[in-house]
Amino acid sequence: EYPLTVHIKLPNGVEYDQPTGLFINGEFTKSKQGKTFEVVSPSTEEIVCSVYEALEEDVNAAVDAAENAFKNTEWATQDPSVRGRCLLKLADLVEQHAEVLAGIESLDNGKSLFCSRGDVALCSAYFRSCAGYADKVDGRIIDTGSNHLSYTRREPIGVCGQIIPWNFPLLMASWKLGPCLATGNVTVLKTAESTPLSALYLCNLLNEAGFPPGVVNIISGFGKTTGDVIALHPKVRKLAFTGSTATGRHIMKRAAESNLKKVTLELGGKSPNIIFNDADIAKAAQNMIIGIFYNSGEVCCAGSRIYCQSGIYDELLVEFKKAIANLKVGDPFDETTFQGSQTSQLQLDRILNYIDVGKKEGAQLITGGERIGGKGYFIKPTIFGNVHEEMRIVKEEIFGPVVTITKFETVDEVIELANNSEYGLAAGLHTEDINKAIDVSNRLKAGTVWVNTYNDFHSSVPFGGYAQSGIGREMGIEAFDNYTQVKAVRIKI
Ligand code: NAD
Repeated sequence: EYPLTVHIKLPNGVEYDQPTGLFINGEFTKSKQGKTFEVVSPSTEEIVCSVYEALEEDVNAAVDAAENAFKNTEWATQDPSVRGRCLLKLADLVEQHAEVLAGIESLDNGKSLFCSRGDVALCSAYFRSCAGYADKVDGRIIDTGSNHLSYTRREPIGVCGQIIPWNFPLLMASWKLGPCLATGNVTVLKTAESTPLSALYLCNLLNEAGFPPGVVNIISGFGKTTGDVIALHPKVRKLAFTGSTATGRHIMKRAAESNLKKVTLELGGKSPNIIFNDADIAKAAQNMIIGIFYNSGEVCCAGSRIYCQSGIYDELLVEFKKAIANLKVGDPFDETTFQGSQTSQLQLDRILNYIDVGKKEGAQLITGGERIGGKGYFIKPTIFGNVHEEMRIVKEEIFGPVVTITKFETVDEVIELANNSEYGLAAGLHTEDINKAIDVSNRLKAGTVWVNTYNDFHSSVPFGGYAQSGIGREMGIEAFDNYTQVKAVRIKI
């Protein structure tokens, strides 16, 4: 039988004990059928370890543990500052374990340590932010005349099912857990099958932080055999999902056909990044790099469609190519690496296929366009020019280090182009003219607009999509609305 802990030595010499079990009711357990699956490090293609795979009976056990914690303990009803204290402690522990967590993320996901450290910092900051919210949930007293007292309370929903992707394994776990736990809910969280390791490590920190058994259950498994069971489960009252639009649509159907679970979705994108003639060209080029090559382009809000005004097109392209030439792609554990590997063979193949599609569609390959080396899933930063709006590489999410660049003339024209998408997650714009910045921000159809910056997050600022990019918001005060329900109480005097 496979052990519940394996000792791992990371390529940078850091050593740690990796849990492999299912985290149910505060303990790591083997799955009921004893099934495991292998975890591959995408930068070396070597097997790291195996983890236990949750199937239906394991999901049921996790949901039962969560329901028990919700119904039969004080978790949801106690002074909420106790929950805040657990989250504060968790934030501190994440910081104390930052180097191990960052290393696990680079090993499991392939992202550079530079990116992993950023994720860990955002993760602890977010837990701390949620801790501060725990004892600030309030209702209203509504004046309905002196014969009644009418007021509202915000109450937790109960057992949540949370399904997360592989591009930001630890950070997405924190975006899901933070508001859910601050508001007194309990959860069964499923990690993505290609990146289960950092969330399993987090489980030990959850115990140390004082979260009672059953409040958080974290399980590894696949979409169809684990995720689907969560989505259909009659005791799960809310689903929070991040991933592809196709799977999001499926999950919403499952929620509808089971017990009308509340659903929040954070889905795909094809976000425009607009550079106007009056932009600071050097800064814009840097933000274009951050926009599309950060995290190897595996970012839902990646600035994957660049629109550049004609007056600076040639100069900007030179700057952009120069910045790409200075960008180190390779070993995620090399301190100077910016772009690590893609996360899986599947994702590598998808991206290479899109590069082929772009060439066949007649786009001009300006730079990149191929895999690097034969081991590890590395792809050269890639720019396509001479594109038009009907090309698949302009319309579809590639989720890799591939960007298109299009020339435009007027503000009205670029707004039309930018908004011509089924998605609406984010948009970027670069200008030194404040009036233009505000006007264009107002007219872009996107849940986030970045001005003279890109992929720039803060715990207090909500994030989520317009159109087919999602439903609901994460982070900011808005996230807490998605984890509470309003009760109105009306007392006749
Ligand atoms: P996916 O949406 O299928 O997977 C995300 C999560 O959903 C994983 O945990 C997976 O196990 C789970 N899942 C899959 N099928 C499920 C089902 N039937 N029921 C319940 N859960 C299920 O994404 P993918 O196939 O790994 O990647 C496909 C594309 O999705 C990528 O190329 C990218 O374009 C997009 N993507 C977007 C994000 C994002 O942050 N918005 C993240 C990952 C992938």
